Amino acid sequence: MNSLYESTRNKNILVSSSRAVLDGLAPDGGLFVMRGLDSEKADINSMLSMSYIEMAQYILGILLPDFPEQTMRDCVHKAYSKFDTPEITPLVKVGDNWILELFHGPTCAFKDVALQMLPRLVTASKELNGDSSETVILTATSGDTGKAALEGFCDVKNTKIIVFYPSDGVSVVQKAQMTTQSGNNTYVCGIKGDFDDAQTGVKKIFADNSVKELLNSNNKHFSSANSINVGRLAPQVVYYFYAYKKLIDNNAIKIGDKINFAVPTGNFGDILAGRYAQMLGLPINKLICASNSNNVLFDFINTGVYNRKRELSKTISPSMDILVSSNLERLLYYASGKDNELISTLMKNLAQNGEYTVPAEMLKQIQSEFYAGYANDAMTMATLKKYYDETAYVADTHTGVALNVTDAYKAATGDKTPTVVLSTASPFKFSNSVYSALFGADAAAKLHDEYAVMEDLSARTGCAIPAPLAELKNKPIRHNTVCAKNEMPDFVLKSVGLE
Ligand SMILES: *Cc1c(COP(=O)(O)O)cnc(C)c1O
Repeated sequence: MNSLYESTRNKNILVSSSRAVLDGLAPDGGLFVMRGLDSEKADINSMLSMSYIEMAQYILGILLPDFPEQTMRDCVHKAYSKFDTPEITPLVKVGDNWILELFHGPTCAFKDVALQMLPRLVTASKELNGDSSETVILTATSGDTGKAALEGFCDVKNTKIIVFYPSDGVSVVQKAQMTTQSGNNTYVCGIKGDFDDAQTGVKKIFADNSVKELLNSNNKHFSSANSINVGRLAPQVVYYFYAYKKLIDNNAIKIGDKINFAVPTGNFGDILAGRYAQMLGLPINKLICASNSNNVLFDFINTGVYNRKRELSKTISPSMDILVSSNLERLLYYASGKDNELISTLMKNLAQNGEYTVPAEMLKQIQSEFYAGYANDAMTMATLKKYYDETAYVADTHTGVALNVTDAYKAATGDKTPTVVLSTASPFKFSNSVYSALFGADAAAKLHDEYAVMEDLSARTGCAIPAPLAELKNKPIRHNTVCAKNEMPDFVLKSVGLE
């Protein structure tokens, strides 16, 4: 059965695509993967005349085959109605590279592309599986994911979403994005503690059987909006094809030509979607995996040793500050020739010893598909300034990492293949760092708050502040609860009406 999903760690755990969306993780801790993915092919010729939304419907129909066509059409139309351009992910020429802007959704970060879609898929999956229960999404956030999840689940039927964030651990703008969140099913709570405290608190609630039973007996269940869900991964495959079509429209390539993609990488979801596009037949030469100074993936792709035993450093590209890139497990599955037992062993090694080593053959396979590089904060700042000075393009810090690694890759290899750099956030989401890179930290320090920095960044560069960020300052605060770590369960029960 080619269209079924199985666990990366056990080929006998088999579910439909809608079940995989509902369950998120396989019961053995593995990730759901489609065994027959590389025998499916997307017809690129037929996609050349499609809009983004039509393309999304077509690709998602291949990746999530048990959703009826009409259902998928409804999901896609609703999901992409809140983007500020019908292109959804516009492609722009910047210097010698192309930049694919993934930040035109309601929260100005690339996570919108997936998180606007996931809630619709969850609702449709429940209908397909005869599940009438209420889904309660529980998430801890360091800033970006929580807001994108809130905006995605906002007022989606039969769901509630609860987000915990470190009260003093997010930027002024990030905090305002969450505390002003609209919707009758959204609940936001700051906690006195850091992100790890929030994360640990959420994990404890997930693991608490008495809370779980209380919810179940009231026809409710917990779920997470985690990036390992196939319902988040699948929508990201679409924009790789869209970029290819736009390059053809721009006469930059002919159909069949290979291109490169460079991706600022954290949990490995975004770049894995590129590998999926390649398996579906998209002509890709190299996938360039760009890390910040948390360069676990750089080491892995160059040596075959994945080693998480190191300190996490805080960088100016915080959404990439990660030591365990969960979605890499899916790449390992395909690169090993779908060897579930090997994957199970590798993941056991990671859990028990904090590291694993892949066989030489597998490493060779991965190196033929991927190039890895990294840039620290100083390198990233210099790249942002260089691009602004030379092309007047203002990129965000995450995108800056990818631009730096792309230029280093081209210099090292002499590769002239057209390269698309994925841009994952609006520069105005990270105004302080971007402003400092372009005009100096001293100039930034003279401005009295983050909103002033945002406004001056706009005034000096001539780039408009995206509407969802511009209107924040004047939006009423709807969520002002701040609680102690041990009060998190109470907040959850109160939010779902089960005090
Ligand atoms: C989440 C995120 C990333 C990393 O994407 P992964 O899929 O986790 O690799 C990069 N940039 C931004 C702005 C993000 O929010």
